[in-house]
Amino acid sequence: MNWHEYVNATGKVPAWPYEINYGREHVIKTDVLIIGGGVAGIRAAISAKQHGATVAVADRGAAKYSGAGGAGVDHWHGAVLNPCSKITPRQYSDVAMYCDDGYCNGSMRYIVGKEGWDTLLELEKWGMQIRDVKDEFVGSIFRDDETKLMFAYDVDNKHCLRVWGNNIKRVAFAEAKRLGVDIYDRICIFSLLTEGGVQGARVCGALGVHDRTGEFYIFRCKAAVVATGGGSRIGGLAPELNAASAMGDLNLTGIGHTIGWKAGAQLVMMEQAGTYGGGFGYTPYSMGNSDNTYQGAPTVDYNGKPIAFATRYGKLLDDYRDVFRTSNPDTFVLGHGIGVSFLKPGSANDYEATHLDPKIGEKVRSGEFKMPLYNDFTDLSDLDRRAIYNLMLAHEGKCRVPIFETWNEAGFDPARDLLQCVITTPDTLYARPGWVGINAGPNNWFSPGSGGYLTDWRLQSTIPGLFVAGGRPIFGGGCHGESHTTGRYSGRQAAAFARANDFAEANPEQIKKEKDAAYTPVNNKGDIGWKELNYAIARVMADYCGHVKTEEVLNLGLKRLADMRESEGERTFVNNPHELARMVEDYSFFDLGQCYIEAAKARKASSNILRFTRIDYPEVDPEEWHKLIPLSLKDGEVVAGSLDCWFYKKGPYSEDLESNYVKYAELD
Ligand SMILES: Cc1cc2nc3c(=O)[nH]c(=O)nc-3n(C[C@H](O)[C@H](O)[C@H](O)COP(=O)(O)OP(=O)(O)OC[C@H]3O[C@@H](n4cnc5c(N)ncnc54)[C@H](O)[C@@H]3O)c2cc1C
Repeated sequence: MNWHEYVNATGKVPAWPYEINYGREHVIKTDVLIIGGGVAGIRAAISAKQHGATVAVADRGAAKYSGAGGAGVDHWHGAVLNPCSKITPRQYSDVAMYCDDGYCNGSMRYIVGKEGWDTLLELEKWGMQIRDVKDEFVGSIFRDDETKLMFAYDVDNKHCLRVWGNNIKRVAFAEAKRLGVDIYDRICIFSLLTEGGVQGARVCGALGVHDRTGEFYIFRCKAAVVATGGGSRIGGLAPELNAASAMGDLNLTGIGHTIGWKAGAQLVMMEQAGTYGGGFGYTPYSMGNSDNTYQGAPTVDYNGKPIAFATRYGKLLDDYRDVFRTSNPDTFVLGHGIGVSFLKPGSANDYEATHLDPKIGEKVRSGEFKMPLYNDFTDLSDLDRRAIYNLMLAHEGKCRVPIFETWNEAGFDPARDLLQCVITTPDTLYARPGWVGINAGPNNWFSPGSGGYLTDWRLQSTIPGLFVAGGRPIFGGGCHGESHTTGRYSGRQAAAFARANDFAEANPEQIKKEKDAAYTPVNNKGDIGWKELNYAIARVMADYCGHVKTEEVLNLGLKRLADMRESEGERTFVNNPHELARMVEDYSFFDLGQCYIEAAKARKASSNILRFTRIDYPEVDPEEWHKLIPLSLKDGEVVAGSLDCWFYKKGPYSEDLESNYVKYAELD
């Protein structure tokens, strides 16, 4: 019986099905606490456990499936040490840094290059398919016959793999359980504990609320890993449509950044703007597309006229194999959707995947081609069609059930049917017309970019004992495979830290203060619900930290957030523990919003690479502002620093990335 049937049959909404005990305390002591049980967090937990620590994971959802990567993956990036690869870890790191002109994480990319393949081999051991073991793709241009590995994007350089990853999270979760990791599902962590409650001091725990019982969790630890993924809800909310445009999900709120910000960690690149508007797109991959999972899908216009693929330099391609090669024979395809913006002029042409004819926009405007466009899989050989539809789409995140199985049940047959692409501005048709259906969003839109914790060669934040892993909390963070890999690395580091350090003392006053604040809406009986508050904060962020940034506008934004926290923030109500956890997330947006706006204030120049425009500082990427700006709170005051983008290979580190890795990687 679904919700509507129940309400129709009984005339009432169902009662809350769990026992509620608002504020009842649980204290959990563990060597290593993992905050966020997504792919990075679960992998960090496995790794910390393998290295001798006791480990607890606190996850906002159900860790078996939760997170952006919980429902599968089709591309595994960064496996640069696989036996077929022609790329080295050094190239992988250097090229990522080059393509973002330094606004990327060079040490993290090197670590991924070193360990990405080993991380995947472990998954294979636990039960995920990474090779064409059933010989379904013999003869495919993507296949290496000796290893049976299948490659994506770049069939010459072979470091990004096609994988059968729909069960990836389940196999990692099973391994964590087998090793005896303690997993606490449905906990919304909203605060870090530092030694003595001092900002910037050693981490010693975290606080959370349970979203079914309303109970209060105090985690005490020797070391912690933040692995809470990304989050777009601060920029937009549309849960009635399709859950925050489904590239994220409603549980991904950027709270991992917020807890670090409040605890005094240094964050960088928080001023960078992102490209996805939360909430208003199509479900990713539910529309035709020639990019990413659908890379190589032939596209035709309304009249069935084929649109050619082209190199990044605009040369139209007639050999299908060339679609999966670089546009410049001296380079390699770095990857796609890996958190690299490719905004340094020329870098996208040299290191990004091919796309459709770049003139398609013009040709649509002139009437030569007509919208809508369609993917025409019938034009492919059976082998190539299966590589896209039955391998990539069927295993891609969030696609297997809602898209692949639903379409199949509805009778969609790629050997016969066309798949319509998004109807959108012609100028974007050539590249990504349909991951989520929209990219930049309305003119005045706030969308977080790749900002996150400043990390060192241990992937440790500036808070001792606090390590970082995964797609977003690490600044310049990447994709699925990279998240597993950084999780594996950070978990190992956290275990080493816990071996060398005992528990530090938390501050009971901090715990009481944070607890009282979190339970405000339970006692308030106010008139503002969590959705209303979320919409209002997103509106403030769009207005005051959107595309129109000036010192005055940004200052007003800070004031609006502070005022709203003191007025509407005190008038909140919740009906159950689920709404309490959502409201706690909303409260975190006041702090996160402050961090984003302070970061925008700190950069007094515009930047193409960071997609950052200051109307009052129009000069674009001037040399003196070509740097990272570490931002933190110290005794409640904002402190802005200055850091060379290439700090990870300058003193005290070595220019030789391998020697840094060997020195800090905690290799057994
Ligand atoms: C549809 C889709 C397809 C994708 N396809 C690919 C692909 O093919 N290849 C690729 O490389 N990448 C892909 N990605 C990106 C990839 O999934 C992410 O980069 C990856 O999942 C990031 O891992 P993570 O562990 O950092 O974050 P997530 O997997 O998002 O996990 C974050 C975890 O943190 C938890 N959490 C959040 N807040 C709290 C809190 N307050 N308290 C406790 N826990 C919290 C969440 O419940 C979640 O479990 C795709 C993403 C999507 C959405």
